[in-house]
Amino acid sequence: MSLSSTSSVSDMLPRVDADTALRRAEAIGACRDEALADRLYRRALSSRSEAQRVVWMYRAMDTVGPAVASVEGASPCRAGCSHCCHIPVLITAAEARALARASGAPLERSPAGGVQREPGESEESFFQRLDAQRQEAAANNRGEPCPFLGQDGLCGVYEARPSACRLYFSLENSPEPCDTGQGGRRVESVVRLDTLADAAAGAVILGRHQLVAEIRSFFPKRGPT
Ligand code: SF4
Repeated sequence: MSLSSTSSVSDMLPRVDADTALRRAEAIGACRDEALADRLYRRALSSRSEAQRVVWMYRAMDTVGPAVASVEGASPCRAGCSHCCHIPVLITAAEARALARASGAPLERSPAGGVQREPGESEESFFQRLDAQRQEAAANNRGEPCPFLGQDGLCGVYEARPSACRLYFSLENSPEPCDTGQGGRRVESVVRLDTLADAAAGAVILGRHQLVAEIRSFFPKRGPT
């Protein structure tokens, strides 16, 4: 495993250095049961229904968390810390449908700001549009909690949470860099585990032409649990 893009140096907060973060990522990678993840991804790919593909895909992605937990001090992420539930969370329509089934929350089928790869559109063009949507969502975000975040700081749909939530792990020394305390959370700038390969596997399993939108756009009417 490797690292995602690094953070701003102007935070004046205790940040992890690149060598330490890399060692943490490698230790996590060494602990992950890759063979199991591979089997589960193959099972997802061969599943006939969308619901089953999502279930097996999530099981494959859930091989990351135990690996992170098994390396002492590798990540400050813990239950009850919900900083990353206050930033934009992009999910696919298939994941949104699974979330709606699990939660009973009303699903907006034409979410604002949704992005979908057009027939014949290059991957590069699609990712540019997706990145623009991500940046716009980040710019508009005012630290509003995810509609599924409970008052207790715990995810109200933990078993059905989307892949973005299953694959997001900070490699910082502490949770402080996730929350600047300046009114808006900047979790996206922290050093985190690079799980792009898993995200790419998810795109293959669910289909490359999935509608992608912010979780708050798919579920605009759901209040905090
Ligand atoms: S689905 Fe759950 S884990 Fe994901 S952002 Fe919402 S509350 Fe947080």
